[in-house]
Amino acid sequence: MKYIIVTGGVMSGLGKGITTASIGRNLKNKGYKVTAIKIDPYINIDAGTMSPFQHGEVFVLKDGGEVDLDLGNYERFLDTELTREHNLTTGKVYESVISKERRGEYLGKTVQIIPHITNEIKERIRRVAAKSGADVCMIEVGGTVGDIESMPFLEAVRQMYREEPKENLAFVHVTLVPMDPQGDQKTKPTQHSVKELRELGLKPNIIVTRCPEPLNEGTISKISLFCDVSEEAVISAHDANDIYEVPLMLEQEGLTSFLMKHLKLNSTSSEDKSW
Ligand code: ADP
Repeated sequence: MKYIIVTGGVMSGLGKGITTASIGRNLKNKGYKVTAIKIDPYINIDAGTMSPFQHGEVFVLKDGGEVDLDLGNYERFLDTELTREHNLTTGKVYESVISKERRGEYLGKTVQIIPHITNEIKERIRRVAAKSGADVCMIEVGGTVGDIESMPFLEAVRQMYREEPKENLAFVHVTLVPMDPQGDQKTKPTQHSVKELRELGLKPNIIVTRCPEPLNEGTISKISLFCDVSEEAVISAHDANDIYEVPLMLEQEGLTSFLMKHLKLNSTSSEDKSW
């Protein structure tokens, strides 16, 4: 199983969900079976009880699961059907750890975030990925790196990176490249968010930047140098007129071929269903 972990920096609403769905779609076009998991670090068990004014649309899955609207994007982009297990929340994780503790399953141990909560997160990710029968599992970590709520999830994926063969995991970090009043692209927010990620022991393989216009060469080489990724791994996800243009944009930027090289995926041309 290959895992592609998508994190976000600087601020929310940058397009992690669309990036996750688009990468998955492009890999599906290469002939791979792709599934997706959305991690929502809030304590609610699911999105069903949350105000749409605060949270946006609640997406209802075929199994009745009331989940984050990103799962709607995954289903539409990947042309697949997901279950409530594909939406992991802090509430679901703690609920099962606390139930296990009450049943005495931890045999007198002190139940802690590391390893008990992180083990529960890893178990759930691996179980859902295996059950789906996919080749590639996209994992979107909701929220922004540095949020206290997302720490156990980031720690769990860090542990997965230690436990899995190196070519089985890829980290994609979505950040913002704003323009200053003179119209210059600014890389500092990206540098800071990658630094924050590295303090947690995670190093991005690919940086996807949301920006009003395509990145210029100077910006790409600066991000590459300061964030320690190769220039071909700095991807520009500029503002699109339509979200369904985003997979095409990422494909043209070379993201899919870079990921496939990193994950040692060899698409068989007969199955290649490129656009
Ligand atoms: P996040 O998961 O980071 O909160 P989403 O994927 O939900 O963000 O995207 C936030 C909003 O930005 C959505 O309305 C989405 O349609 C829009 N969006 C995402 N990527 C792009 C893009 N490249 N161009 C234009 N709009 C985008």
